[in-house]
Amino acid sequence: MIPVNQALEIIRAEIESFGSERIELSKALGRVLRQDVVADCDLPPFNRSQMDGYAVRSVDTTDAPLTLRLVGEAAAGSAWKGELKAGEAVRIMTGAPVPVGADAVQRLEVAHESADKTFVEINEVTPCGQFIIERASEVREGVRVLAAGERITANMVATLASFGYDTVDVGKRPHVAIMATGAELVPPGVRPAESQIRDSNSHSIEALVQLAGGLPRRLPIVGDNPAALKLAISEAIQDADVVILSGGVSVGDYDFTKPVLRELGAQIFFERVRVRPGKPTVFAKINDVLIFGLPGNPVSAAVTFNLFARPALLWMQGTTDATLRESRALLSHRVKSARERTSYLPARIKHDDDGRSIVEPLKWGGSSDFVSFARAEALIVVPADVGTLNAHTPVNILHLP
Ligand code: AMP
Ligand code: MG
Repeated sequence: MIPVNQALEIIRAEIESFGSERIELSKALGRVLRQDVVADCDLPPFNRSQMDGYAVRSVDTTDAPLTLRLVGEAAAGSAWKGELKAGEAVRIMTGAPVPVGADAVQRLEVAHESADKTFVEINEVTPCGQFIIERASEVREGVRVLAAGERITANMVATLASFGYDTVDVGKRPHVAIMATGAELVPPGVRPAESQIRDSNSHSIEALVQLAGGLPRRLPIVGDNPAALKLAISEAIQDADVVILSGGVSVGDYDFTKPVLRELGAQIFFERVRVRPGKPTVFAKINDVLIFGLPGNPVSAAVTFNLFARPALLWMQGTTDATLRESRALLSHRVKSARERTSYLPARIKHDDDGRSIVEPLKWGGSSDFVSFARAEALIVVPADVGTLNAHTPVNILHLP
C-alpha cells in the first residue's frame, strides 16, 4: 500500500505531455494553454474617455462656470483629429480617444450646450486627468497576461480576444476509453432484473473525463468473465490514450481486472493506495496506454477518479496545476480517521455567521451513497490514524470540479 502522494508521483512520472494543436478561440474553453499569451498592444491603446461629456484643457476651467467654444466631436471608433487649443472643447463619448491638447473630461450633467451647438457652458472646475484612462495604464504592450499551463476559463476569453488570439495553441485532448465491469450491471435504459443494478460508473466517469478535458468513449459493459475482459481491454488500447475500468479490482472470486492486466503484459505500477475510499485502485500501462482500474462502488470510483485519473488527464494536456484545489474549513460534525489510510470524505461547504467556511460530511457508506454524493462539493481530508476529529476542528478540503 502506497500513500496518495507517492501514487501521484508515480503517475506524474509516467506521463509525457501530449503535443499541442492550434484551435479557434470559440473552441478554447476548458483547454490548456500551451503558449504564453502576450499583450500585442497597450491597454487602453489611447487616452480613453470614461464618460460622455466634453474634452477640455483643465486650465481653461479654473474660473468655472464659463463658456468654451465647441470645435468638434469624438465618438467611440472615430477620433477628433485636430488639436484642442485654449478656450476650446470637444464633445466626447465614453470609449472615445481624448483629443490631443485636452487633459480632462467634464461630464454631460454639469455642462450645457448653446442652442446652435457652437458653445458649451462648463459649470464645474475640471481637474487635470479627470475621467481619462491613460494609454497603457491597464496593460503595457509586451507583458505576459496568461501563461502556458493555465486552463482557459470563460473569464480568460476576453483577454485572448483583446490581444488578437483568434486562434490559440492548446494541449491535445487524450482519448479515454471507459469500461464498466460487473456481471450485475445493466445500462441505465434497462430496468434491472433481480440481482442486477444499473451501471452508473460509465456515465459518471464519462462526465468526469469531460470536465478534465478528455475525449471520453464509453464501451459496452463487460461481465465478470476474464476472456471477455481480456478481449475488451486489448481492443480498447488500440485507439485510446487512457483506459478507465471500474469494478473488479478487489480480491473477490470474480475480480478479474488485475489478473487480466497481467495476462496482457501490463506493467502494474500500483494496486493498493492508502486511501479511503478506494484502496484497491490500480494504475498500469500497456504499451503507451495508461490504465486506471477504479473500484466499483460509485462514490469510490468518483473519488479515485478525481484523486488520480483527473490529474493524469490534465498533465497530459500540459496543465501545471492539475490536482484538486485545496483550502481550509472547520468541521461541522465529528469525523473518524481510518487505520493506515487517508480518508477523503464527500462533503458540502457552508458558511457560518462570521463568514468562515464550514464543511459538512455527507451521509456516506450506504448502498445509495451516490445519491448524497450528488450534492458533494468537496472532499474532507482526514489523515490516517488521528482518531476522532471533533466538530470545529480545522481541516484541509479538496474542492471537487
Ligand atoms: P466491485 O469493485 O466490482 O467489487 O464492486 C463494488 C460495488 O460497486 C458492488 O456493489 C457493485 O455492484 C458496484 N458497482 C460496480 N460497478 C458498478 C457500476 N459500473 N455502476 C454502479 N455500481 C457498480
Ligand atoms: Mg464487481
